[in-house]
Amino acid sequence: MSYGYTGNILHINLSTKEIWVEHPEEAFYRTYWGGRALALYYMLKYIKPKTDPLSPDNLLIFAPSVITGTPAPAIPRYTVCAKSPLTGVEGEAEAGGWWGPELKKAGFDAIIIKGASSDPVYLYIKDGKIEIKDATFLWGKETAIAQQLIREELKDNRIRVAQIGPAGENLVRFANIVNELKHFNGRNGLGAVMGSKRLKAIAVRGTKSINLYNKEKVKEITKQITSRVMDNPLSRGLRELGTPATVRSFYETGCLPSYNWTTGYFKEGENLTAETYNKTILKKIEGCFACPIRCKRVVQIEEENLSVDPLYGGPEYETIAALGSLCGISDLKYVAKANELCNKYTMDTISTGMTIAFAMQCYEEGILSREEVNGLELNFGNKEALLQLVDMIAKREGIGNLLAEGSYRASLKIGKGSKKLVHQVKGQEIPMHDPRLKTGVGLQYALSDYGADHMKAAHDPFFQDVDSWGTKTMQDLGISEPVSPTDIGPKKVKLFQILDIYWSLLDTLGVCDFGYVPRSVGTLGELLGIIQSVTSWDVTWFELMRLGERSINMARFFNYREGFSSKDDTLPEVFFHNFKGGPLDAQGAINKEDFQKALRLRYEMMGWDVNTGIPTEAKLIELGLDWLVSEVK
Ligand code: SF4
Repeated sequence: MSYGYTGNILHINLSTKEIWVEHPEEAFYRTYWGGRALALYYMLKYIKPKTDPLSPDNLLIFAPSVITGTPAPAIPRYTVCAKSPLTGVEGEAEAGGWWGPELKKAGFDAIIIKGASSDPVYLYIKDGKIEIKDATFLWGKETAIAQQLIREELKDNRIRVAQIGPAGENLVRFANIVNELKHFNGRNGLGAVMGSKRLKAIAVRGTKSINLYNKEKVKEITKQITSRVMDNPLSRGLRELGTPATVRSFYETGCLPSYNWTTGYFKEGENLTAETYNKTILKKIEGCFACPIRCKRVVQIEEENLSVDPLYGGPEYETIAALGSLCGISDLKYVAKANELCNKYTMDTISTGMTIAFAMQCYEEGILSREEVNGLELNFGNKEALLQLVDMIAKREGIGNLLAEGSYRASLKIGKGSKKLVHQVKGQEIPMHDPRLKTGVGLQYALSDYGADHMKAAHDPFFQDVDSWGTKTMQDLGISEPVSPTDIGPKKVKLFQILDIYWSLLDTLGVCDFGYVPRSVGTLGELLGIIQSVTSWDVTWFELMRLGERSINMARFFNYREGFSSKDDTLPEVFFHNFKGGPLDAQGAINKEDFQKALRLRYEMMGWDVNTGIPTEAKLIELGLDWLVSEVK
């Protein structure tokens, strides 16, 4: 077996309680590697088209990669995949933390779960041994309590727990999965899939070490990267201000998503900035496994009726905007409280904030009456109502039951023109970055296999001039020319084709986007050096980019089988109109025709059918996916 792998892929059928371990050949690993590519292989093989995502026939896959869990910096991630109950297409989310590395040390490269248990269960995996354990006593418990109870039952405080809270159990369509209470497989409703299998948690403990080909070289590169963390402005910024640093630039520019995207102007934006955050609620910073950057925030509030427990971490930028300005709320303490509630119930904060902001606008426009929202005064800015709604959604109580379906499905049930107030792609709510000022992000929202997501490529400003970090550091991949963030011409399409493939590779290898170029300190050469030193494989960027492209095409093919095509590669209407209010008033609309042209060009560059956006037979063969060809025919 190649270095870096355990050689074991664990299969569990929760309906029959059958457990078996597969030992793939090296050639399999070198084709699918790990993360999203490996997960997609099993999804394409074993999930039949049109499977109900919440039925026992869906798979739930946990997949670290060959380099996850090695001591190299910022590579703690693992992917969770399933058919998504929110979008109906490929569901995928990556999480950092400690769980992925622990699974490798416990002896497994991935877990493939099928079926559904009749009673709540949890899995206990320790050094190659697997037990399916009764979880009746954990069902209904918030995450901190459940984690504690598991550790007590197993008499081991070092056990790493990935789990769902009540929102996952209640099949909230945007429920997520958390490890160590604060690291999330955040989007696509994968927590609901786990809930549908009545699988509360996976507790892992590993004491084996991962076999590295050249340990000394990995150590040397790690030392090199670590020594530059505080010199590099991007990694230093992540450490000092974290992702909340984004609030200031967006609110000063006038593109901070506010009042359900009716404006980018939020006059109380200062209250939500990273500087205010650091002064008022920050308790400490933390990191993930073997990461010297330590960008994670931990907050604490000790006020009557508004206490926030540091166990649940702290809000990132997306959360601050989604539960803050988007809902017209400028009180950071309430945002932190709403974040804590989402975390203990395990709900994606982006979709939660977007769905509540949608309900608030429906209420303000008279589409939802006070009676229909259980007597809440659901105006923008009502921070008490925000907390109540988070609670009601997780428990599916009252109006919360409808909103637990996500904003798109809720609007279909509400009718009365509410659909125009929903901003989504493939049924998933838009994240907190405005594509009018980052057209590449807009292209990625539209093309994303798993619905609108901001983690589908680096963002445009990293390539805006010759001295930008992305332009300077990614020449080996063919990026050397700056492109304006608002350009939507061929240069932008080409840039984001490369970035999409590169990002897909990072999601296949478990690499944190905040650890390496163009977002941070580690270089392409160092990343390649780590991969070679862990595996012994003499890989090149050509092979790695092919791997990234292979996983994009597998995801696209999965979606094609579900009936998705170019008609679903869309952007919400709001972005084809000018900003309203603030410094960008009456500017910024993306030209719809130019956007369509850009999409078609991207299809051509990717080797997809230019009308349908579906991978061609030739492209599948080129990428070694011959086994999918008969399905195209
Ligand atoms: S950069 Fe931040 S999110 Fe990424 S691995 Fe390090 S601490 Fe975790």
